Amino acid sequence: MKWPAFAYARANSLEEAFALKRAAGADAKWIAGGQSLLVSLAYRLQAPGALIDISRIAALHGVAEAGAGLRIGAATTHAKLGADALIGARAPLLAQAAPLIAHAAIRNRGTLGGNIAYADPASELPACLVALGATIVAASPRGERRIAAADFFVGLFETALAEDEIIVAVETPAPPAGSAIDEIARRPGDYAMAGLAAAFDIESGRLAHARLVFFGVGGAPVHAVRASTALTLHGVAAAQAALAGDLAPQGDHQASGDMKLHLARVLTRRVAQAALGPGSLAA
Ligand SMILES: Cc1cc2nc3c(=O)[nH]c(=O)nc-3n(C[C@H](O)[C@H](O)[C@H](O)COP(=O)(O)OP(=O)(O)OC[C@H]3O[C@@H](n4cnc5c(N)ncnc54)[C@H](O)[C@@H]3O)c2cc1C
Repeated sequence: MKWPAFAYARANSLEEAFALKRAAGADAKWIAGGQSLLVSLAYRLQAPGALIDISRIAALHGVAEAGAGLRIGAATTHAKLGADALIGARAPLLAQAAPLIAHAAIRNRGTLGGNIAYADPASELPACLVALGATIVAASPRGERRIAAADFFVGLFETALAEDEIIVAVETPAPPAGSAIDEIARRPGDYAMAGLAAAFDIESGRLAHARLVFFGVGGAPVHAVRASTALTLHGVAAAQAALAGDLAPQGDHQASGDMKLHLARVLTRRVAQAALGPGSLAA
């Protein structure tokens, strides 16, 4: 299907983007890689009057050390997330997530900022950012603000971003001792039926703290607090049992709610073992 008609303008700076938006009004939308937005236009899910291209704004580019963590520009593509040496060293969970996202052509254009602004509940990156305790940096004509990832994803395709804000960067803290991501999808490149991104702290060779964050099982990333505690104190079987208190997945076109809960239990074992090895887990 063809896109509905829209005006198009490219901004070369944040200031120019805000000015273009002010002129175009609330009907205008930012466009970065276009990999989600243009699909939704083709399906007539939305019909903005104008698209403002923010993909070439220098402030949205680059990966740099920030304390013990990183500042990753919002225009960083999924392909770069998977290939960048700094990200591999300082935020390996994001590097592990990249090849799970869509297909190579989409990863070459789709961006970190566009992905998290779109907030698909089955997306890998939002869950990774919550698991890592990352911060989203957003800019608007009113200035810059920082939003904890845990507060950013508020519901189905819904974030804490105001309509005129642009995600400039994501900041990750010092990398956890261990992290892993896994998902179960019908075919490689498909959105997952269920997925799990996790970060682990280890003290004296033992698991001290776990943060298990599921995707594809709710309207937004779900931090499974009970299962995370149970994994730390009692091991995988207890975590799997505790998941019934954390997750209440609705069925969708891919799987029933019961199936998703089952897949979440399978993923809990896989991810814990991948990151920690069987020896690091409590009995
Ligand atoms: C066939 C297919 C399979 C896919 N599979 C997966 C998958 O398995 N996992 C997954 O996570 N994703 C998947 N995607 C989505 C893909 O990852 C997109 O690239 C990504 O979701 C959007 O990034 P983008 O830069 O293309 O954003 P765009 O499409 O340009 O924009 C998406 C939305 O974000 C807004 N936006 C963009 N950048 C910013 C910014 N910096 N600040 C504020 N708002 C912004 C736009 O206004 C728009 O509303 C798939 C897409 C397709 C077409």
